[in-house]
Amino acid sequence: MYQCKKCNDRGIVLHEGVAYRCRCWSQKILDLKIKKANLGVNFNDAKFSNFKLDYYPNTIPPDGEATYRERANKALLAAKGFVNDINTNKVKKGLFFCGPVGSGKTFLASATARELLLNNHEVLFVVVPDFLDALRFTFDKNDNGITEKGLMDVVWNIPILILDDLGAHNYTQWTVNKIYSLLNYRLNNKLPTIITSNLTLNELEILLGDRTCSRIIALCNVFRLLVPKDIRYIQSLNSMITQ
Ligand SMILES: [Zn+2]
Repeated sequence: MYQCKKCNDRGIVLHEGVAYRCRCWSQKILDLKIKKANLGVNFNDAKFSNFKLDYYPNTIPPDGEATYRERANKALLAAKGFVNDINTNKVKKGLFFCGPVGSGKTFLASATARELLLNNHEVLFVVVPDFLDALRFTFDKNDNGITEKGLMDVVWNIPILILDDLGAHNYTQWTVNKIYSLLNYRLNNKLPTIITSNLTLNELEILLGDRTCSRIIALCNVFRLLVPKDIRYIQSLNSMITQ
């Protein structure tokens, strides 16, 4: 079965002997970019327009300050602003999204990545625990062609880096040093970085140390997303209701 019946997934259609790009072409290019950026298939749906503020109630969470929705809106505007700043070469700081599982932080980071890819920027999406495992693996056996240095070179130097799930990994001196070294390098070389974490900065400070946290603060503007319940739980409820 072909996804595009017009061109049988070749990306090109022939009309009276002349080849034209099929309408599915730009999607194919985007799919390739998504693959190269290490984004999963579901990131096609990670669009800013799919970030629904309705999921965040207009009430104030127990910790006080802004409503759930105000926080979410602020984070969304910051993500859009970040894309704008990259497009106009004016980016000053990256983004740090923290919040519990299901608060939408990874979605927002992915939507930002997708938008940047659409604008032809080089982006790499890295799940921190996986990356540290890969790094350790190449360190153990660097005879598989990928060296620790090669892997580090890519992640350290990619123009825009997204570090998903910082904090959800082992805390050995080795991982703590690797993360510090990466963030310090990104900061010194003014390379835009987006970070997501289930942990707050205070919690990260206890686990990763204050020198790493000071790099995060210097590198990123901080946003805390909160939801009263897991968004995926609400979504599954909603889809049950509409079925
Ligand atoms: Zn087609």
